Amino acid sequence: KIRTRFAPSPTGLLHIGGARTALFNYLFARHHGGEFLLRIEDTDKARSTQEAVQVILDGLEWLGLNADAPPVYQSTREARHVEVALELLAQGRAYKCYCTAEELQAMREQAAAEKRPPRYDGRWRDRDPAEAPAGVKPAIRLKAPREGEVVLQDLVQGTVKVQNAEMDDMIILRSDGTPTYLHAVVVDDHDMDITHVIRGDDHLTNTFRQIQIYDAMGWEKPQFAHIPLIHGADGAKLSKRHGAVSILEFREEGFLPEALCNYLLRLGWGHGDAEFLTRAEQVELFTLEGVGRAASRMDYAKLTHLNGVWLRGADDARLREDVVMRLAKAGIVVDAAAMGRILRLMPGLKERAKNLADLAVSAAFLARGVPLPFEPKALALLTDEAKAMLGRLIPVLAATDFSAAGVDAALRGFAEAEGRKLGQVAQPLRAALTGSTMSPGIDATLEALGAEESLARLRAVV
Ligand code: GLU
Repeated sequence: KIRTRFAPSPTGLLHIGGARTALFNYLFARHHGGEFLLRIEDTDKARSTQEAVQVILDGLEWLGLNADAPPVYQSTREARHVEVALELLAQGRAYKCYCTAEELQAMREQAAAEKRPPRYDGRWRDRDPAEAPAGVKPAIRLKAPREGEVVLQDLVQGTVKVQNAEMDDMIILRSDGTPTYLHAVVVDDHDMDITHVIRGDDHLTNTFRQIQIYDAMGWEKPQFAHIPLIHGADGAKLSKRHGAVSILEFREEGFLPEALCNYLLRLGWGHGDAEFLTRAEQVELFTLEGVGRAASRMDYAKLTHLNGVWLRGADDARLREDVVMRLAKAGIVVDAAAMGRILRLMPGLKERAKNLADLAVSAAFLARGVPLPFEPKALALLTDEAKAMLGRLIPVLAATDFSAAGVDAALRGFAEAEGRKLGQVAQPLRAALTGSTMSPGIDATLEALGAEESLARLRAVV
């Protein structure tokens, strides 16, 4: 059975790169009828926070990427990590290293002087522990092979090799008794029966070291797939200066989770020219063969476009729920009557919105009462002349049934009788009803507001 996992470190926000990694793991597991698991890698106690854990859980839930089991907290597994390290030691696959901090520092300095990456020279690899200096607590290092190479058949990167001679004997248990990150990940992936490790290609070099641990334990290795990172439009690593990077920020800005997932999937994964894919289609079509090797570039304009498409296809009642929440945050109470109005006008409102924040702004007039706040442009349309015209319009509208068709016919008749174009009637009317110069069609707007509220708003301006 296929099992994947998303293994974020709760040290900050849930980044869109992380969200995409989670999505790929989720889709891969679903595609194969397997399981998708979540492991919170909270072993760095100084940097991990409960708040960051919550951000990850909320973000994944919002994206609809729920794990098939409760999250595994890596910090709770420390005893097991230690156990495996001691097992490696007992088997002679690892050894105690009594290097002092000064010795290690000297090795680093020498490497810096020779302009090469620091490496441990293996001085305790074969040394008799009886020679250990007093008072130095040992770290446990893997006795890694010195000959040969590690060959990785990566499902995205293809065949990648590293000579064992290029890797030093890594620490698996620090001298303070805590396991290192590389070691903990291997033990956890093994114990969780992970079959496929899909993660960012910034972890590729870690993988070669992790394979050494699998081999030392004689454990079956999972398959690896290292996916390229997301870059900004300028090709640099994606950061705040390119725009939003945190999932919660995208939510705040009014992106739909489906749109974001759809976009993140298309970023670096392709299936022909299919652009717009539902979750069911994504699950059906997703394979790692479709993942490209080049870094993808974040394109906010494309995401915004996709968001508009998803928004127009979204259920009206669900959109209303989000709008009501946003209006409440802005201090605008939505009463029962306004609830009805928002739902009635939603087809017209969502047609014009780029995102949910926009949508809430454009729906706000439906929840406000008399006196309405007016935008300057709207106020400018309400000249004395226009007000007089609206005064004449009130009885005409009052005589209709306030259906869109009914008010449309009445407005056309009124414009003709007044010798005006329909727009010359509709624009001041819209200003009076909405306080702005933009809204869905005037007939739909009148119908949504209803007779009582529309006439009250008109009476308030004339
Ligand atoms: N915890 C690591 C990170 O947040 C991921 C480790 C992994 O996927 O193996 O980057």
